[in-house]
Amino acid sequence: MKFYRRFQTKKINIGDITIGGGSLIAVQSMTNTDSRDWKATVKQIKQLEEVGCEVVRVSFPDLESAYNVNRIKKNIKIPLVADIHFDYRIALEVIKHGIDKIRINPGNIGSNDKLEILVKEAKKAHIPIRIGVNAGSLKGVYNFDDSLLRAKALASAAMEHVRILEKYNFDDIVVSLKASNINTTVQSYRIFASKRNYPLHLGITEAGSLRDGSIKSAAGLGIMLCDGIGDTIRVSLTANPVEEIRVAYSLLKYMELRDFGIEIISCPTCARCKVDLIKIVSEIEKKISTIKNLNKFSKPLKIALMGCVVNGPGESKDADFGIAGGKEKGILFKNGKVLGEVSQDEWIDKLIYMIRDYQR
Ligand code: SF4
Repeated sequence: MKFYRRFQTKKINIGDITIGGGSLIAVQSMTNTDSRDWKATVKQIKQLEEVGCEVVRVSFPDLESAYNVNRIKKNIKIPLVADIHFDYRIALEVIKHGIDKIRINPGNIGSNDKLEILVKEAKKAHIPIRIGVNAGSLKGVYNFDDSLLRAKALASAAMEHVRILEKYNFDDIVVSLKASNINTTVQSYRIFASKRNYPLHLGITEAGSLRDGSIKSAAGLGIMLCDGIGDTIRVSLTANPVEEIRVAYSLLKYMELRDFGIEIISCPTCARCKVDLIKIVSEIEKKISTIKNLNKFSKPLKIALMGCVVNGPGESKDADFGIAGGKEKGILFKNGKVLGEVSQDEWIDKLIYMIRDYQR
């Protein structure tokens, strides 16, 4: 597996997951259920676990919801992070109930004396705090028109809170500096990364819908990951959180930062294509997404689906197996060798059979 030259950050433990210090980039998401309904929240976390979520964040908006930390934790396998805004007493409550990490928003958590109490309790419980700076909730950021000035404002707000935590001898810190604009976000992470070596949680906040949000997140996170910045990622989408995990893994897989799952190489088709490749690829993708446990735990696999034999044999050499289209049929390849012909209506079943067989 190829690694970009990554910033050497401090190792931090979130439950039994380690981020920073060269660890694998952890994939996380956030639930969108009402956390006062702990059963619904557990149900969604289980769905996230199934697709490979490694850390889950839950917003606890009030004390009533904070009492549910215990119940949720007992029923899930991955570390639980509490997202806390406005009231530091909720943070104290979730710590009491065994939370694995807290995310606070410096823009709204209140005065320094409240922060001091919170830091002391986190230290006693040995849990990290993420300083999650967000452009939308930080006064003054949008007074600037220039993205660099906005980035500087974000980084300086994060630094101000980092210094407060350091003043209380607390260094179990993770930082995020999110804006919905890629330029502002990237520059703020770069500024922060040049000042401190705390692990960085990456994300483009409020990135949008499944399609555009995925593209925006991939563009922004891709730049930072290429810079070597980032220890854990959350792709923020207005969609089912399960999709956030799928997109995050695809991004890391194609950047060769995580090695797992199925990669489909398929051509855009042209006049030479004599099979309905667009339909075949979309159906295979759909079927793959329904195969249980086919996620980060599965063996890496590359499949080439080509419209014709022009690039088929070449691509198939780099793939585990694949099919190159002919007239209403295809030539099946495995590890660069021709296995035989498959008629167009058998492509999907044949490939799904081979995928399952490969994973056994
Ligand atoms: S592989 Fe064949 S069908 Fe696909 S784009 Fe290339 S030439 Fe066209």
